[in-house]
Amino acid sequence: MRDKLRKRYQVQKEVTQNGRFEGNIALSGLKRLGELVHFEEPGSTDRNVAVSFEFVRNEFDIPTLVGHLQTSLDLECQRCLKPIRTPMELDFRLMIDASDEIVRQSSLDTLYSDDGYIDITEVIEDELILAVPLVAMHEDAACNEDWPIKDSQPEATVKENPFSVLQQLKTKD
Ligand SMILES: [Zn+2]
Repeated sequence: MRDKLRKRYQVQKEVTQNGRFEGNIALSGLKRLGELVHFEEPGSTDRNVAVSFEFVRNEFDIPTLVGHLQTSLDLECQRCLKPIRTPMELDFRLMIDASDEIVRQSSLDTLYSDDGYIDITEVIEDELILAVPLVAMHEDAACNEDWPIKDSQPEATVKENPFSVLQQLKTKD
C-alpha cells in the first residue's frame, strides 16, 4: 500500500516508517526540463510523470530513495526538427546526505536534503534531465526529404583526400 504524493518529505521520519508513495507529477510543472524539452504543444499540458518510490536504508545505513518513473517526452527530431514522442521509463536509487567518503565506496550517487527535507519534484526532474537522450531521431530515416541532399555535400568535397575512405569508414560506425 502506497500513500499519495506530497511535495516535501522529512527524510528521517520517512526512513523510520519505510514511507512508500506513488502518484503523478505534472510535466508542465518541471520548468528546468521544459527548457530542454518543449512540452508546451497543445494537448501536452496535462501530461504526467507517473512515479513510485520508497525510503529505505542501504548497506551503509544511509537513507536511500528507491523508485521508478515513467512518462513520455516530445523531443525534437535532429533530422526533421518535428517532435518525436519518446517514452521514458527508469529506476532510480539515490542516497540522501551521504558523505563524500560513502559516495566513493558506494555505486550510488547522493542527493542533499534541504535541512532534512527533500522535494520529490526536484528529484524527479533531475533524474529526467539526466536521462534525456542527447540526440533523438525518428526511426524512419526519410522523415526529412531534404536530409539526403544535405548529407551528400561534404562527401563531394573530401574526394581529393586519399584518407577520405578511412574517414568514411570511421564515421559510419
Ligand atoms: Zn524526424
